[in-house]
Amino acid sequence: MVSIYLDASATTPPHINVINRLKEIQSDCWGNPSSIHKFGVNAREILERSRLSIANKFKADADEIFFTSGATESNYFAIKGVCNNIDKGRIVITSVEHPSINLIANQLVNDGWDIKYWPVDREGIIELQYMDEMLSPPTKLVSLIWGQSEIGSIQPVNLIGMECRKRNILSHTDATQVLPSGLIDWSCLNVDMLSASAHKLQGPKGIGLLMMRESIKDLLLNNPSYGFKNGLLRSGTESVPLIAGFSSAIDLLNEYIEINDKQTIFPVTKVSRMTNLLKSKLIDSKQLTLIGPNSDRLPNNLSFLCHSESMIPIRGRDIVRSLSKKGVYTSSGSACSSSFQGPNPTLVAINVDKSLQESGLRITIGPWITNNDINSASNIIFESLQSLEVKKQ
Ligand code: PMP
Repeated sequence: MVSIYLDASATTPPHINVINRLKEIQSDCWGNPSSIHKFGVNAREILERSRLSIANKFKADADEIFFTSGATESNYFAIKGVCNNIDKGRIVITSVEHPSINLIANQLVNDGWDIKYWPVDREGIIELQYMDEMLSPPTKLVSLIWGQSEIGSIQPVNLIGMECRKRNILSHTDATQVLPSGLIDWSCLNVDMLSASAHKLQGPKGIGLLMMRESIKDLLLNNPSYGFKNGLLRSGTESVPLIAGFSSAIDLLNEYIEINDKQTIFPVTKVSRMTNLLKSKLIDSKQLTLIGPNSDRLPNNLSFLCHSESMIPIRGRDIVRSLSKKGVYTSSGSACSSSFQGPNPTLVAINVDKSLQESGLRITIGPWITNNDINSASNIIFESLQSLEVKKQ
């Protein structure tokens, strides 16, 4: 049986360079980086070199990079951490955020904050005509998911960030799904904070980062109410192997994403070519309807609604299970929400017909996929769709 992993947005297999680096640091450099003896000094050196290497790739300063346990925690610090230290007001997020952002935003409501959800169009992109309404007082913080994890929509983060700056509003972007498709030049990005996670780009699980500008640091660091101390975001012993592994994963990225006011232009890579090839094979199927943007989307993402030829819905969970039995691994939505039953909030936000809100199929591709995989996967997807349609009749 084939084994074709098409769920890169959930997580990715660690790259061999990352595995080797983890093994090396775990066995040779296990000291506590806070110790002042030789073992500690060695560990600190690896940690700081990794931080510097990551900063160089992002064209950032090393002291703008803060390590976290992953993007969920980065999002938490960026939103809850910052909002707890500024005057209450309004936070604006999109209606297609990752569940980790929705959860934190809802907690802020209990703390007396107001939330506004920036409406999106049918492609999942925020509607710019709401700019003045969203960015008027008392908005204090805007957080946008840069690349949507389920339907691949890209938000104009640089444009919104610039508008926020003009109005003294803080901005954050969740770049977790963008970074696997190219390097980000922090020096020309108009946002104050950025979250990312290593395991989406063939790095280890349990490590992510929050990048933040100097002006934000004062709000988050050294705040005794969070246990932050000595300029650290998190207390506790840093995981040098995970940080070094994260740096090795970022080293695998070489090309930069071009960012202008309205657009995020991704480099053409093997992954984008494979994704387009699979799209060209699936697009004419009468059992699949592509959702999300047609062009400006995450270059590794294909997202469909599944149905019979006569538009009778096929449940996303059924097709994912059927494909899995045949060695093709996909998802029916974000991994963090796909284990819950019920309509998918992202599909609701983009106005997918109610009958099809449980029919999402997400395919996300990584550099391990070959031409042969694409041919086999498309045939297996057709087979599964047909067998599920027959069962429904
Ligand atoms: N944000 C986005 C957009 C994501 O796709 C994910 C992972 N599904 C996360 C945040 C959470 O990342 P982590 O697993 O590193 O906590």
